[in-house]
Amino acid sequence: MTPSNTPSFPTPNSGVSLRGHHLLCLLGYRGMGYSDAYVANMTSIYETLRLHPETLVHVVAGPDELCAAFPDDQPNHCREETVYTRDDAILRALGLSPTATLPWSEVEARVHAHIAGADLIDFCQTCPWRPYGVCEAGIEHIRAGGRLRALPDSP
Ligand code: SF4
Repeated sequence: MTPSNTPSFPTPNSGVSLRGHHLLCLLGYRGMGYSDAYVANMTSIYETLRLHPETLVHVVAGPDELCAAFPDDQPNHCREETVYTRDDAILRALGLSPTATLPWSEVEARVHAHIAGADLIDFCQTCPWRPYGVCEAGIEHIRAGGRLRALPDSP
């Protein structure tokens, strides 16, 4: 990909709305997802946060900007009770309310201070993505002082 056609992923003026558990899902994101459209949306949000960590995150209690791209032809879990419970547990661990607004860099700082990769065994018991190990690795990367990593197929 040449510089002339590299997406710039500008900071959205309004920030990004994210539910509690997606704050951790983003740390483990490696370009996998439920559909091409879901991956395109998640990549856009991920790259915005990676390249502009000052971007404001608006925590929401329920479906967010990642859920908005969940495919219509797959069983939708975004409103399941277990997912709300996961959101609550992760926000509690991060010391955040479900109406908080903070820069993405502060989310990373709170993960660094309060969450370990092994915590996903409790938070994410029913998530089919956990066995891949990417989320645990992403959290440990932040705990080691890192920031969001470049995606595997990034130029
Ligand atoms: S295991 Fe699932 S819910 Fe937990 S952080 Fe990873 S993708 Fe998100």
